Amino acid sequence: MPQHSPLEPAEGDPFGAHTLPYGVFTTPDAPDRPRIGVRYGAYVLDAAAAAAAHGSAHAGLLDQPTLNPLMAAGRPVWQEVRSEVRGWLSDEAHFHPLDRVTLHLPFEVADYVDFYASEHHAGNVGRIFRPDADEPLTPNWKHLPIGYHGRAGTIVVSGTDVVRPQGQRKAPADATPSFGPSLRLDIEAEVGFVVGTPAPVNTPVTLGAFREHVFGVCLVNDWSARDIQAWEYVPLGPFLGKSFATSVSAWITPLDAFDEARTAPPERTHPLLPYLDDSGAEPGGIDLRIEVTVNGETVSRPPFSAMYWTAAQQLAHMTVNGASLRTGDFYASGTVSGPEPDQLGCLLELTQGKGPYLADGDEVTLTAWAPGPDGARIGLGEVTGRIVPAPAAPPGS
Ligand code: MN
Repeated sequence: MPQHSPLEPAEGDPFGAHTLPYGVFTTPDAPDRPRIGVRYGAYVLDAAAAAAAHGSAHAGLLDQPTLNPLMAAGRPVWQEVRSEVRGWLSDEAHFHPLDRVTLHLPFEVADYVDFYASEHHAGNVGRIFRPDADEPLTPNWKHLPIGYHGRAGTIVVSGTDVVRPQGQRKAPADATPSFGPSLRLDIEAEVGFVVGTPAPVNTPVTLGAFREHVFGVCLVNDWSARDIQAWEYVPLGPFLGKSFATSVSAWITPLDAFDEARTAPPERTHPLLPYLDDSGAEPGGIDLRIEVTVNGETVSRPPFSAMYWTAAQQLAHMTVNGASLRTGDFYASGTVSGPEPDQLGCLLELTQGKGPYLADGDEVTLTAWAPGPDGARIGLGEVTGRIVPAPAAPPGS
């Protein structure tokens, strides 16, 4: 544990010495020098400066404009650096107030996958999008974690404005599609996992190897244009209704910070193939409590512990076909929804498909924490975004 520091956050602050998430920041005096910082309460530790001052062997990994070199170094190095950072918390010389720095996208995103792992969400969406189907879940849903490849290049850091997307939409009653700004712009409250250690082609990552590969965790808002999505998604899945923007936290919380929050996933109702069978594995769930606010008002508290598929199963599934894994690969859980009406992770479910959806100027913020050691809270950095109007209609539209 660190020595006492005058900067030490108050008891109950989710960014105390048990959390220590990594981000990338700049200061007003050096706006062209992004480097790695560690959040500690209302402060940011300049990890590059502290590492240099304390003669750390890992100083070169911390004086970087992205987390990728540190992420690629592997779990033994992650653990050494985290231990060193704890020792630097008592050295006041290298801290900046959080409100005086600019935060940047913390890692260079390689590939991006979004899953669909909440049984409550998938069931609710199935009932809304396919009201005539016998079963809300598709026949494959309990046998494999369903996902799709998203657009890595439009992942943006928390605080970035989101421009209302435009596209084709056609309601069932309409004779022909029309073009224009989305009229049903929604959120999806999700949890993201950042891959550090790569894996070569044809070396699937087993459930037990999850910790060796996943560097950390963050919040994700998978903005979704429901009208565009509903018209385009059959038969190949989400496309332009999702790819305009995906917001992520500025802070990546190390996976090891959640050791006390591991929890068993819901009971499996269908037998799983061996590569997904986690019945004898360490508990794969995380007891993260998410809060969704729109314009400052709490609209939902989705429980991540209710997710049917775990992040370890998702990584095993992503690589079981022989696909390689790169540092910076990023995957999100899918919308987190629990069984209760105030635990739903998107407006589609919260309004039972009727809306209202997001208006221009609306600001959405996700926060989350998990239980840590000795009653401490482990926080995920917030993810926030404000909707700005679509640009004027392009010529010829
Ligand atoms: Mn999603």
